[in-house]
Amino acid sequence: YRQGEASSVAVPTPNGTVYFGEHHPLVVVAGPCSVENEDMIVETAQRVKAAGAQFLRGGAFKPRTSPYAFQGHGESALNLLAAAREATGLGIITELMDAADLKPLAEVADVIQIGARNMQNFSLLKKVGAQDKPVLLKRGMAATIEDWLMAAEYVLAAGNPNVILCERGIRTFDRDYARNTLDLAAIPVLRSLTHLPIMIDPSHGTGRAEYVPAMAMAAIAAGTDSLMIEVHPNPKKALSDGPQSLTPDRFDQLMQELAIIGKPL
Ligand code: PEP
Ligand code: MN
Repeated sequence: YRQGEASSVAVPTPNGTVYFGEHHPLVVVAGPCSVENEDMIVETAQRVKAAGAQFLRGGAFKPRTSPYAFQGHGESALNLLAAAREATGLGIITELMDAADLKPLAEVADVIQIGARNMQNFSLLKKVGAQDKPVLLKRGMAATIEDWLMAAEYVLAAGNPNVILCERGIRTFDRDYARNTLDLAAIPVLRSLTHLPIMIDPSHGTGRAEYVPAMAMAAIAAGTDSLMIEVHPNPKKALSDGPQSLTPDRFDQLMQELAIIGKPL
């Protein structure tokens, strides 16, 4: 897997270049599952920035299990992300589901997310590999490490060296207590196999806000380079993934807890 190549991904943002990698400070990506309206995305961006995050996340195009669930506001949500970027200087990470949306999405996204469900959408991987925004590649929910690294290889082989790997929980036999099983062993395993930076998403990894802080701290202890945390100003009213979203206050407290774990923020 292209061992020996530069082991960090540099992402220019309005607030300066942020580096993802083993030899750089922890990078934190936070924000709601979905972009719901301008007030909530700008407010969330301000709160997560004040707490120390470098990136705002938020879906404009949502891959929902049910076609009747909220699908995201689509292209109009990209404008709201642009407003939040403008207001805070945070970098933006948002998911691309359809290559037809690449151009408008890449105008606002500083990092393009490919979600778990599209990890092996090879035509989409080739397309993000043929443009120059960095790519956040989430692990498919039933993907082996080999499947995942080969998916990353599609992006690299198409010419884009800037890929970040995000573990977000895999499907196991027990889904009664947590939505997924967060594979923290993936951190040292990836470190031994690839130079690509590592991100852990304990929000999708557990599906429950109350379990997120413990898994975020464990991920740092295990050596992750970055974290993705879902934060919503009013999780009970969220249009998607409310049960796993931290309030801004809880996120702020978590950031203070993380600062004492190890890797400097
Ligand atoms: C998300 O990050 O909002 C998301 C849909 O994640 P995943 O692809 O990991 O399910
Ligand atoms: Mn989500």
